Amino acid sequence: MPSRPIFRCEICGASPDPETYAALRAQMLDLRHGEYVDAEPGRWLTWHGRGLYGPARYACGEHRGELKAELREHYGTIGPHPWAKGPHPWAGRRGSDRARRLQRLL
Ligand SMILES: [Zn+2]
Repeated sequence: MPSRPIFRCEICGASPDPETYAALRAQMLDLRHGEYVDAEPGRWLTWHGRGLYGPARYACGEHRGELKAELREHYGTIGPHPWAKGPHPWAGRRGSDRARRLQRLL
């Protein structure tokens, strides 16, 4: 399954360094809803939206604050999730089997 997803900071268009890329890619299979997750070592921030919170969104270490501000403006009235304060360490995969199945269906 040689798929190579592309991650870009939505503020500046930067690409992650290889290690951060690997972290982002691993986290992609995680099924989360309305959660921020950090990706190290580049301090990238992923917004795992889904449902009302929209698609996943990414920001580099420099622009994570901007991404949060934007998400809070868009989704801040829906629920408390966009207001979560960091850090947001990734605790490993959750529901990854189901996530993989969903990916195959896409
Ligand atoms: Zn950026």
